[in-house]
Amino acid sequence: MVNWLNYRLLILALPLFLFFSFEQKKALPWGFVGHKQINRLAIFTLPPELFGFYKTHIEFITDHSVDPDKRRYTVEGEAECHYIDLDHYYFLADSMYTLLETPWNKASTYFTEDTLKAYGIVPWHIQLMKYKLQKAFEQKNVDLILKYSSEIGHYIADAHVPLHTTQNYNGQLTNQKGIHGLWESRLVELYQNDYQFFVGKSQYIENLNSYIWSVVRESHAALDTVFKMEIEASNRIGYANKYSIEQRGNQTLKTYSKDFCHTYHQLMGNMVERRMRQAILAIGSIWQTAWIDAGQPDLNSLLTQKPHLSELEHLNQLNQEDPTSIHGGRICD
Ligand SMILES: [Zn+2]
Repeated sequence: MVNWLNYRLLILALPLFLFFSFEQKKALPWGFVGHKQINRLAIFTLPPELFGFYKTHIEFITDHSVDPDKRRYTVEGEAECHYIDLDHYYFLADSMYTLLETPWNKASTYFTEDTLKAYGIVPWHIQLMKYKLQKAFEQKNVDLILKYSSEIGHYIADAHVPLHTTQNYNGQLTNQKGIHGLWESRLVELYQNDYQFFVGKSQYIENLNSYIWSVVRESHAALDTVFKMEIEASNRIGYANKYSIEQRGNQTLKTYSKDFCHTYHQLMGNMVERRMRQAILAIGSIWQTAWIDAGQPDLNSLLTQKPHLSELEHLNQLNQEDPTSIHGGRICD
């Protein structure tokens, strides 16, 4: 069974000396808790023509929201689909940078596929997934509609995380190691019950390429606050009070203290909530856009179809994989 404790924030075992080693094994984007919540709530942004179908499959779409993270350590080519290091491209003149924010064929002609993949491809991967979802709608293929709807939700949510747009994705370059899991897992788990998730209705997106690029630019623009406020919160709380030991089941964990999290969360204003809300609306809107671009097929005629067993077996297989056994991409450590 999936348990967020297992995918890490700072998993630590006694004896006590390990307390000071402060190991972070890997932080998964938004944590599994955040991804599931975001996919689930996106369903409630949809118009009636889509809502019935998606609501029928709400558990599937919730559970499968985390599939891309489960395979990112074992499937070659998966890891780079979850981020883009925008700071790698700072050296570009404006005239060249505009070529980056173009569809894949054009951008890869100028920058080469290898370069783009080396620094992350999430803006283009979302567009590819939208195309696949549109084709699945055209074919009225329930398995594929559910698979691509679930998975595109994951990548869209990742694109809303500021730390998914930088080479300093875990604060490793600024002595803030652990900030990745802090921002997207620890804070979400502590405070999401206080968030207001009525985000309005999904909307058709005329130009998906420019929409997605504006999402990652907004994420990137928030980084300054993400890093600065972590330092400010550390100064206010003091190192001695920054971390605490928590007991979860039979595990003893060292993690960021609740006092520190509270201060950091407040100093960032409503950033975490705002990025979650925008991710929810973006997912609903991109599902709706794919459906409209597919010619608005009647989904009510598919309501009696269940996902095939093969899809469910696929989920079980992913659950049994040890995501740390093979490293197929970078790990947030
Ligand atoms: Zn991810």
